[in-house]
Amino acid sequence: MNAVHTARALITGIAGQDGSYLGELLCAEGVEVHGVVRERGAGANLDAIAPAVTLHVADLRETGALRAIVAATEPDEIYHLAGPAFVPDSWPALGDTMRAITAVAGELIDAVRDCAPRARVVLAGSREIFGAAAPSPQREDTPCAPSTPYGVAKLAAHQLVGLARAHEGLHLSSAILFNHESPRRRLEFVSRKITRAAAAISLGRAQALTLGDLDAVRDFSAATDVVRGLRLMAAAPAPGDYVLASGVARAVREWVEVAFAAVGLDPASHLRVDPALVRARETAAALGDATRARERLGWVAHTTFEDLVSGMVAADLAALGGVSGDGDL
Ligand code: NDP
Repeated sequence: MNAVHTARALITGIAGQDGSYLGELLCAEGVEVHGVVRERGAGANLDAIAPAVTLHVADLRETGALRAIVAATEPDEIYHLAGPAFVPDSWPALGDTMRAITAVAGELIDAVRDCAPRARVVLAGSREIFGAAAPSPQREDTPCAPSTPYGVAKLAAHQLVGLARAHEGLHLSSAILFNHESPRRRLEFVSRKITRAAAAISLGRAQALTLGDLDAVRDFSAATDVVRGLRLMAAAPAPGDYVLASGVARAVREWVEVAFAAVGLDPASHLRVDPALVRARETAAALGDATRARERLGWVAHTTFEDLVSGMVAADLAALGGVSGDGDL
């Protein structure tokens, strides 16, 4: 009897928000999962799948690190999710941002061409490629004029994907990701800052939440929905670029209202606005149009905005409930 080939996937950034959910999805499908972590002892996000995945420790900014892992694992699928994800951090780190995002993407494509040319590869891109003045909603063919160093680096990686796909005939896809959230979102992001604060205030562990621009508008999806989209991109017969977004504009104020309602609190009593936290406003809403993903991949979101926010509040309540003392805000 012939041995059955088990698909093998490599996920960079597997210990992050998206990587860990994608790892769970692939493990549940019986895929052999390899993941790249920056440090051993990968953290709580991998609790559910740690025994089932093979971890490779590397800082991908080190030249040759990713190539060595691709060569050793010869994956059928590669999901490149590792990289700095907090946009403001890119301003004081121009060189490192380009290295961590663009140079690593280039090294990955080189490695795929040389060591795993049949692999199906998906890179996590960003709506930051469009910049602050892009027409809205944004699609795959919307002109790109990034207004952050992170956006410049993501655009260069996105363009490398398109060029190499055409030039080398590789199965390379770029996911143009809008905000997506979960209880695993890092605390510096506004979504998680709000849900954490609502939970903490309701438990008497904090008194107030301080935010910047309450009217800033974003397009929020659930991370679990987005990683299903990445999976569909790898499985598609032809590679391509896809916007994955909810298509619904939500103000930060709406996050606050839903999060505080989930714990029965009136936000007006606890909310402070600090003008120093206000970032330059986009001239058009950062809103995505995922028509292509819906029509070509059959991608649909399962999680409503209300379920996403209240689920994050519930997770923060559970996490803080287990913390003794005054909490860790
Ligand atoms: P996370 O920050 O949760 O995960 C990113 C992971 O990449 C972390 O585990 C991080 O490790 C790892 N990483 C970063 N730099 C390196 C490096 N040099 N070598 C090895 N590992 C590294 O981000 P998300 O899961 O939210 O995002 C995944 C991808 O999607 C990112 O590329 C991000 O830019 C992109 N994206 C995400 C959006 C979102 O709304 N979530 C929106 C648009 C794009 P460590 O913990 O050690 O830092």
